Amino acid sequence: MELENARENYVQRKKGKRVLLFPLSIQGHLNPMLQLGDILYSNGFDITVIHTKFNTPNKANYPNFSFHSIPDGLLPSEANADRVIRLIIRLNHTCGNPLREALSKILSQDTEGNIACLIIDVDWWITHPIADSFNLPVISLRTSSIFSFLVFAAFPTLRSQGYFPIQESRLEERTEIPYLKVKDIPMIYTSTYEEVYAFTVNMIKSSRLSKAIVWNTAEALEEESYPQVLREWDNPQYILGPYMKLFPSTTSSLLQHDRSCITWLDEQSPNSVLYVSFGSIVQIQQREFLEVAWGLVNSGQTFLWVIRQNAIIGAEWHEILPDNFIENLGGRGKIVGWCPQQEVLAHPAVGGFWSHCGWNSTLEGISLGVPFLCTPMQGDQFVDSRYVSDVYKAGVHLEGKFERTEIARAVQRLLVEKEGDEMRKRAKDLKEKIEFEMKPGGSAHRAQEELANLIMSFTK
Ligand code: UDP
Repeated sequence: MELENARENYVQRKKGKRVLLFPLSIQGHLNPMLQLGDILYSNGFDITVIHTKFNTPNKANYPNFSFHSIPDGLLPSEANADRVIRLIIRLNHTCGNPLREALSKILSQDTEGNIACLIIDVDWWITHPIADSFNLPVISLRTSSIFSFLVFAAFPTLRSQGYFPIQESRLEERTEIPYLKVKDIPMIYTSTYEEVYAFTVNMIKSSRLSKAIVWNTAEALEEESYPQVLREWDNPQYILGPYMKLFPSTTSSLLQHDRSCITWLDEQSPNSVLYVSFGSIVQIQQREFLEVAWGLVNSGQTFLWVIRQNAIIGAEWHEILPDNFIENLGGRGKIVGWCPQQEVLAHPAVGGFWSHCGWNSTLEGISLGVPFLCTPMQGDQFVDSRYVSDVYKAGVHLEGKFERTEIARAVQRLLVEKEGDEMRKRAKDLKEKIEFEMKPGGSAHRAQEELANLIMSFTK
């Protein structure tokens, strides 16, 4: 009780101190930044979110936050995340002056000096000189794993070792980075190699210029990478645990959820459903899409499949499926356009997650004890998938193959066979370790307090 009171007083004391957040408005980056805002708010800080017009966050879900919109200068044809690296580079070109004006206005209204710092997505590399000119400390949030970040940081070495541009003939070769094959190097095939390289160099520089780095991950998932980042970066690092364990990712969704999938899941038996989703950005070819569809059908297993509008190149939605595709399955399948993913993964009917292994999806699945079928398509997804299959041993890696027989076989391995049960057990072990870290006294819980202390130290 005394401890609770002390904590309550500590939280009270910070009231009035404000943290500015500058998220990158892409679903997988926005979710963790707004969750971090919730964590800091619950620690007593007031929150202002500076955001681009592009993908404006759903303010109604954050009545306690203030929002400040800046013009992003994007042409209508540029305002989408289909070419994500190009988008990030473009935003870093167009948002400098609007950010400077926003900070000038917000800081001029802060007559009592309550604003402690600015927390940016580390991909906003233009921020550092601007914030410096206002003497405003900058902390970076990196929204993916530490181990994939370290692979990006190794790009200059990989380049000097002759890996770039990546050659088709070397894909199966092992690199000097533990566990990593050449095909796992995080490339983004909607951008040129030079663009990805320039993005990476800027992102890593931005991380080093920050007063601290905050991670959305768990120590249990970063056994080798966390000590490495502590050794190789001079600034403090804070692992707060998967944020979705504290505040759900569903609140910051940019798309409307179709909740009919939850009532449908309620009718299914435990661990019987494969949940299939490839995140908010990647697009697949029509041929690959049809292989996914027939692989699912041929597996004989029940599935819930998220197909986003425009996720299939050259199609509006899933109109290229044969007529009555779902009806002919006799209740064995369901398709939705977007779902409350965290709630789906927590549902007892879900026995496996076929994922592109974006970091949020990876964290959500592992933190809820669900094993994976991994088909990475771009960027850090390649590294995350390698970790899920080869390090955590909590998933089957499809090794880039969209072929119906391989898919059907992999689904059966995961949902029906003993191998799948073992992966489920390992995912559940990781879930428990993560929950232990997040309990009072656990490392993630302590890191939250330490981060709050650091932010308070900026206000003295
Ligand atoms: N998501 C969701 N509903 C869906 C599919 C995805 O709310 O139907 C959320 C998911 O919970 C995750 C985010 O979208 O938080 C996707 O982020 P991730 O890093 O996995 O992939 P990205 O979209 O960046 O490729």
